[in-house]
Amino acid sequence: MEYGTIPKSKQVANAANMADYAAVYDSFSWNDARKLINGLPGGRLNIAHEAIERHVLAGHGPQVALRWISKSGTRTVFTYQELSDLTNRFANVLRDQGLEKGARVYALLGRTPELYIAALGTLKAGCVFCPLFSAFGPEPIRARMEIGGANALITTARLYKRKVSALRDALPDLRSVFLTDGDAANTKRLSTLMDATSDRFATEAMDPEDTALLHFTSGTTGKPKGVVHVHDAVVAHHITGRFALDLRPGDTYWCTADPGWVTGTSYGIIAPLTNRVTMIVDEAEFDVARWYDILDQEAVNVWYTAPTAIRMLMKAGENAHKGHDFTSLRFMASVGEPLNPEAVIWGNSAFGMPFHDNWWQTETGGIMIANFAAMPVKPGSMGKPLPGIKAGIVATSDDGLRQLTEPRAIGELALRPGWPSMMRGYLHETARYDKCFRDGWYLSGDLAMRDSDGYYWFVGRSNDLIKSAGHLIGPFEVESALMEHPAVAEVAVIGVPDETAGERVKAFVALKPGIEPTDQLLLELLGHARTRLGPAVAPKEMVFRTNLPKTRSGKIMRRLLKARELGLPEGDISTLESDEQ
Ligand code: ATP
Ligand code: MG
Repeated sequence: MEYGTIPKSKQVANAANMADYAAVYDSFSWNDARKLINGLPGGRLNIAHEAIERHVLAGHGPQVALRWISKSGTRTVFTYQELSDLTNRFANVLRDQGLEKGARVYALLGRTPELYIAALGTLKAGCVFCPLFSAFGPEPIRARMEIGGANALITTARLYKRKVSALRDALPDLRSVFLTDGDAANTKRLSTLMDATSDRFATEAMDPEDTALLHFTSGTTGKPKGVVHVHDAVVAHHITGRFALDLRPGDTYWCTADPGWVTGTSYGIIAPLTNRVTMIVDEAEFDVARWYDILDQEAVNVWYTAPTAIRMLMKAGENAHKGHDFTSLRFMASVGEPLNPEAVIWGNSAFGMPFHDNWWQTETGGIMIANFAAMPVKPGSMGKPLPGIKAGIVATSDDGLRQLTEPRAIGELALRPGWPSMMRGYLHETARYDKCFRDGWYLSGDLAMRDSDGYYWFVGRSNDLIKSAGHLIGPFEVESALMEHPAVAEVAVIGVPDETAGERVKAFVALKPGIEPTDQLLLELLGHARTRLGPAVAPKEMVFRTNLPKTRSGKIMRRLLKARELGLPEGDISTLESDEQ
């Protein structure tokens, strides 16, 4: 299905960081990209140096690095100089407490300034940073700390008492727990230690291949994997922030992702700071009115968010954003899930510009495929590969791997390894890591196709593809067709076993507020899908749901719908947000 193209004005295109995609793509080299950051003497590197110290040394210390909005709405600002001092203190605290280079430092915090200080201070000290989402329960926390061999944890007194204190015996490697507030047995108060130590610290000069970050995947398709990233990743974070998010020094930038997920670290801490922007961090959870206020009052220039949030804004209707001033907004991007064409088009009418979808994974560490500021947007497409990234559509069989070059052929999205932010391993899962590579390609596990203009289109996770009466059906296309209907807020489509067709398409639909789930509406939606998709692809079965099961990072868990449908075990649900069936 085509949804047309949203063209760019010459003015917008020429002003973008990357005005001519084809020319930059052809001439790009990672060595040139490396020259855009400082590095440290002797070929050494540290992410935190590039994020903070580089700017302070260049005289930008007084620029605001972080504007933090507390739950109650109070604003606190931190300049690059202040971040430098605070992260130096944090690095000294780690040293004072005997945490040396390579120690694993975990954070279990909401989006408070301490989280950002801990992340960058940990990197400065050459320790490995692992953020955990603060809403995890005790078991997911224990499992992730055990897998990564956590040596230190920064958390709040409340989270510690409720979720961690009872685990201490099960975590023998966990030597130090620092609390950002309050006190508890066997812990230390972070502020006391910070105050007592120096605000000077010589950033550890790391080998580019030294481990910097440990991230857990979202658990959408199964048990979350621990993904290892190195300091060299900063080269990719920086350049992809510049090209795919069009970040420019001095911009006000808001990434809505929590650092508990890779987006919230790569593009919620590292890429923005290395590009010397002012980051907005909101402590509160999603709220329609609050989000529109932030975009308006903070005069956000670049906004990076996710499909679930966009769909919730759409659901709230036009009146919610009427009267707001979005004139500062220059670029909007989305990641994490397929972005329905409907949402891209809605962005264009609500904000005067489309959402720019981009694609990547915890494993790739940075954006791989994107709709760029200077390129026309085809709603529903993920865009084109970043400079430095070679992508392909491949089919694998026992005989090996075959590249599918004909336009719109569906296959697995594969990438040629070698970019700096590529994972260096799945923690303790070597066999699984090895299986990701074949004949010189990294296999993403996602299905996609490429059109004749070189744009990539997401089809579905390889496990989610539906085989019905000889047709291969990607759930995303079916979901997007249903999303066009004004009554629909959210959809998930799965294949269920069928005696004659092998599988039949089943849709789970959540309706917009105030809309009654009647039999008549059901028939209307089935009819709409048939008209848009044809009878072979349209769902045969449809049910209404108040909510769809999602990961805490906002991804619809189709595998859970399927397991429940088939009466199979639910598998790992550690990242499941509470759902109502
Ligand atoms: P797990 O690997 O544990 O099952 P996950 O794959 O959801 O979880 P992440 O690494 O957070 O964990 O998410 C990456 C995946 O998210 C991609 O492989 C892809 O399926 C999906 N995704 C990300 N961005 C997009 C996008 N723009 N369009 C479609 N899908 C996307
Ligand atoms: Mg994955």
